[in-house]
Amino acid sequence: METKSKTVEVEFIEQLCECGGVLRTLDRHAERTDKWMEEQIIHTHPTTWDVKCSKCGQESSTSFPWPVIKYKGKRFLLEEHVKGKVSALTALLRRYSEKHSKRG
Ligand SMILES: [Zn+2]
Repeated sequence: METKSKTVEVEFIEQLCECGGVLRTLDRHAERTDKWMEEQIIHTHPTTWDVKCSKCGQESSTSFPWPVIKYKGKRFLLEEHVKGKVSALTALLRRYSEKHSKRG
């Protein structure tokens, strides 16, 4: 399928740290760790992204993978952030279903 492109004006939105630096999303996902195998966490924990401040280096997690692009009132995420999270969630589901199929 063909694609086409056009030049548009967008807003580039970054989340600021308390120190004034900007938060950058890390390619590191909690879903890849074994603690996420616990059923309660899978069902109750919201999807979050790990971020790190570009200035002070403090790490935290947010409900949104910064930075984002805003165009016509809608926010667009960076492809690498979306693919990283989908990959981590898919891996979690695979491990989870393997664990439960062994029980039965
Ligand atoms: Zn900072």
